Amino acid sequence: MGGWGVVCTENIEISDDADISPYPALHLGHDRDILRQAGMVELVHKHGALAGAELAHLGLYSANRTTRRTSIGPSSRLLIESTEPVQARAMDKSDIRTLRRDHRSAALRAKAAGFDIIYVYASHNLSIASHFLARRFNDRTDEYGGSLENRARLLRELLEDTKEAVGDRCAVALRFAIEEFLGPDGLTHDGEGADVVELLKDLPDLWDVNLSDWSNDSQTSRFSEEGYQEPFVSSVKRITGKPVVGVGRFTSPDTMVSQVRRGVLDFIGAARPSIADPFLPKKIAEGRIDDIRECIGCNICLACENSFVPIRCTQNPTMMEEGRAGWHPETVPIRRSDDRVLIVGGGPAGLECALSLARRGHHVTLAEARDTFGGRVSREASLPGIAAWSRVRDYRLGQLGKLPNVDLYPASRMELGDILGFGAARVVIATGAKWRPASMQRDGISSVVAVDTILTPDDVMDGQTPQGRILVHDTEGGYMGGLIAEKLQRCGATVIFSTPALTHSGFLALTLEQDRVLRRLTSLGVVMVSCCELAGVTNGQATLVSTLGADPLVIAIDHIVVVADRLPVDGLAKQLRSDPDRLVDVGIRSVNTVGDCVAPGLIAHAVYAAHRFARDF
Ligand code: ADP
Ligand code: SF4
Repeated sequence: MGGWGVVCTENIEISDDADISPYPALHLGHDRDILRQAGMVELVHKHGALAGAELAHLGLYSANRTTRRTSIGPSSRLLIESTEPVQARAMDKSDIRTLRRDHRSAALRAKAAGFDIIYVYASHNLSIASHFLARRFNDRTDEYGGSLENRARLLRELLEDTKEAVGDRCAVALRFAIEEFLGPDGLTHDGEGADVVELLKDLPDLWDVNLSDWSNDSQTSRFSEEGYQEPFVSSVKRITGKPVVGVGRFTSPDTMVSQVRRGVLDFIGAARPSIADPFLPKKIAEGRIDDIRECIGCNICLACENSFVPIRCTQNPTMMEEGRAGWHPETVPIRRSDDRVLIVGGGPAGLECALSLARRGHHVTLAEARDTFGGRVSREASLPGIAAWSRVRDYRLGQLGKLPNVDLYPASRMELGDILGFGAARVVIATGAKWRPASMQRDGISSVVAVDTILTPDDVMDGQTPQGRILVHDTEGGYMGGLIAEKLQRCGATVIFSTPALTHSGFLALTLEQDRVLRRLTSLGVVMVSCCELAGVTNGQATLVSTLGADPLVIAIDHIVVVADRLPVDGLAKQLRSDPDRLVDVGIRSVNTVGDCVAPGLIAHAVYAAHRFARDF
């Protein structure tokens, strides 16, 4: 519907021993699976797009937790990233024949379901074909091990089998990771990766190239720019005569066109950009570039996939609600009342609420205390590497600016009297949250310490850059602790980054960033201390008590930043609700709260809550 040329599935398990549960996957291991895929294909075709099926056996990654089959791989090895100490069986020739037969059968089922492009998958360090290709996983001595030609044999056979089975009607694509960032232990774009392209050159009808592993392929904006895969994939088109598609968090038509014109890619692939804006191609086609809701590269979507729940998107609150709630990504129902709405607070919740209510047709006034809109997004985007997050603000402000029924008032702190006298029948409070200052009770802070020694992330985002030795103590475990540590270290302080958790910034394992963040902090010289509670602070020193029973650590410090939890800023809402008669007197019919002032969470939570409120309004 949004104008995409091809809509491709993610992994489709080809057989029962390709089971990657609890991760979400589709299935084509049985004839009964055809019907379900056919329904999806029919809808894709209805909108004029082609449908692609990514057939996959994830080999050393398939723990078969649901099907309880024995895992298989090129050699007997521990499974990759498995939480259980389980090994795969080394495949013999009959296993290879079975795998090829299963792949072929799945390709025929994909064709029967109506798919137009059938993929052979060798990417992300996940596929069995990749495991055969990789020297580190393949120590076979037969014709499937040893030389690159031998290690690529299974991949070649899968491609040939698929072409022979479905090539009369379907295109056969190869998804291939040309660079693994493992040096000589893996495929490199200017070494064995390029050699594989040379070996298989014109065998696939389409090369779909990317980087491995998943964390390298799906990098966040904190660690990479749009189009970051270009230096690694640009050689592919020089080797093959077949068309090439690639990815790189593309949201800007200029970058896309530039890559196509310069002969880097023939087609632009997009997963996250299509989540943030399912109508991206249509907007480009119609010249509505300003209307594109650009992905901010935060990987909250991947955090959901890694938690086995429906995907959320920070930018697109309708993601995964299209079916179950009937929310269209581009339209909202028209209004059911003529009431004017006053929204207090112009953070992500206030902006989203204003936009969706205004699109519904309400006359909306948005008042923000600060000189600039954006709330936490504007403040957090000033921290190192996440400037792209300000797109949450920019997209909404840009759209609000096009609507005649919206009044925007920055630098307008609203007090109780202002709201009562404003004359709007509906009031929405979106006043956000503040980081909690350290307290004796919860953080072991001793009373002798000078108050200005202990800071919150808000103080740092407001521009305070204390010098000397700084303890950043993070009990939240999200992205903020590492960002504050990085910012202060870059500003010249010596930072000790401590946490009671087993590892720092645990949430970022889900966004595929944790190891990158910890490597960056280490390279900057930040000292990491885990498994410790902040047990006491006196002037000039902090005591960290080990949760593992080791000796306490007493460290000299000049300042502390405590990254704990946040306090909802709900004073105005409470004041308004405390006197319902007065509200009636001044004609206010409802007072609602949305976003962090209700329950602090991710930006995605605030945007979603505001959008939902506006739809239900
Ligand atoms: P959310 O994520 O829920 O949108 P934020 O903290 O990002 O929360 O945004 C809340 C916004 O509300 C901030 O920009 C803050 O300046 C603004 N705000 C707080 N109190 C008032 C007030 N009394 N009048 C106007 N704006 C306010
Ligand atoms: Fe992009 Fe973040 Fe949305 Fe994922 S959640 S699509 S990374 S904006």
